[in-house]
Amino acid sequence: MKELKEGQNLRKNPDEKTYSELGKEWGTKGKQGLVASSLTGEDANMSAKNLKDAEYFMSLAIEEAKKAEEIGEVPIGAVVVYQGKVIGRGHNKRESSYLATSHAELLAINEANKNLNAWRLTDCDLYVTLEPCPMCSGAIILSRLRHVYFGARDEKAGCCGSLMNLLADQRFNHQVPLTEGICQEQCQQLLSNFFKTLRQRQQKLKKARQVTKRWLGNFK
Ligand SMILES: [Zn+2]
Repeated sequence: MKELKEGQNLRKNPDEKTYSELGKEWGTKGKQGLVASSLTGEDANMSAKNLKDAEYFMSLAIEEAKKAEEIGEVPIGAVVVYQGKVIGRGHNKRESSYLATSHAELLAINEANKNLNAWRLTDCDLYVTLEPCPMCSGAIILSRLRHVYFGARDEKAGCCGSLMNLLADQRFNHQVPLTEGICQEQCQQLLSNFFKTLRQRQQKLKKARQVTKRWLGNFK
């Protein structure tokens, strides 16, 4: 974090064209409609270049998700980006930390706050592999993030379009435009593979337990 010195406030850098443009383009759309924009189909408002940028940052969030998988956690990862640079990373650590709040988004937001010495992330964007839950959606609103990009939907707990869209609720003092479907297949696949392996492991364990039980029965 060379450019960001202690006490430095968030400021837009006019030289960061690529990324700023990306935020503006979707920010404007968000203010008008404030609805989730699906990129699973063709979206005329997102240029190929901007989509490429979004996919690049999502690939970094996917790297984070893989770190979670390596330690046996549900693979969810997030990054916070400011002026084209990652200033916060996080991956799900709920099981290993024994903390219900150790979600990827919260950890990434916390790190971004520390790096910027600011609780406001007004000019920052969040990339997360899975649709944020109610807690993380709350943190996104409170930290005044500029834009949220997520990969796969969470039909059971997602609050950025699935169950509701908290980021678009006009009763809050801040609304956050969002874009869904960035690298959706990859994000979804990570989760599907994880749960498939988990189920297979549980079945193997069950079988092993049954065999052990039979053997123990022989020695009664
Ligand atoms: Zn969450």
